[in-house]
Amino acid sequence: MPAQNHDPGPAVQFDGAAKTYPGGVTAVRGVTLDIAGGSFVALVGTSGSGKSTLLKMVNRLVEPSAGAVRIDGRAVDAEPAHLLRRRIGYVFQNVGLFPHLSVGENIAIGLRLSGERNHAARVAELLELVELSPDLATRMPDALSGGQRQRVGVARAIACEPRLMLMDEPFGALDPVTRDGLGKAIRALHDRMRLTTLMVTHDMAEALLLADRVLVMADGAIVADATPAELLAGRAGSAADALVAVPRDQAHRLAEIEARG
Ligand code: ADP
Ligand code: MG
Repeated sequence: MPAQNHDPGPAVQFDGAAKTYPGGVTAVRGVTLDIAGGSFVALVGTSGSGKSTLLKMVNRLVEPSAGAVRIDGRAVDAEPAHLLRRRIGYVFQNVGLFPHLSVGENIAIGLRLSGERNHAARVAELLELVELSPDLATRMPDALSGGQRQRVGVARAIACEPRLMLMDEPFGALDPVTRDGLGKAIRALHDRMRLTTLMVTHDMAEALLLADRVLVMADGAIVADATPAELLAGRAGSAADALVAVPRDQAHRLAEIEARG
């Protein structure tokens, strides 16, 4: 198993971070936010609310048009982007594995860039960490299921032992059972490695079940910021209540059916 990290992951700070794209769309309107090191934060909101833009400001796939983003107090643009990104795991929908490279080669890409040797043993460990068989290392990506591919994407993202994980709808279009299993695996990894995790999802139930803190985004702003317990207790405001109502109502209806026998 990879070395255990005992310090929690870094804190992330947004300081009036805003983004207006060339062409005039303002995707993020001056967000100020402190994310504690070691926390698992979910960013929820409807499509187009600015979640991905906010997330990508952290690894500089998007440069803010105003304000700043800091990791443990250090501005993200204080070093070249490629060095910053080497320390940040990034998992997104449809992971983007290289189709002409084996699973093992895909996972080892970052290791190779940082000059590490003995990939085979490390790849086997990483596959185990995401609960896949080490035998899969020699397979090609198109010979995997969607869920397996997403797990390989997670393994690749943690290969260089980042302390900060950014995940943008990491469950893609997976079926609910696979999605639930991968969600639990990601939370277990977060706890085991004491990462700081920022995860974008449009699914409030997923956010409530996985995260320590849920941020709701609407029209480029954070409109709710609460723990899952506060959200479920209706203490996070009307925008959040509307999103929480759906899974809660479903849970009640299921419980009623179960009670009826
Ligand atoms: P979300 O992830 O919540 O769906 P995004 O951050 O992707 O939201 O997008 C927020 C807004 O910014 C949307 O109106 C979207 O069309 C716009 N947008 C996103 N990326 C770009 C881009 N590269 N150029 C121009 N507009 C963009
Ligand atoms: Mg998005």
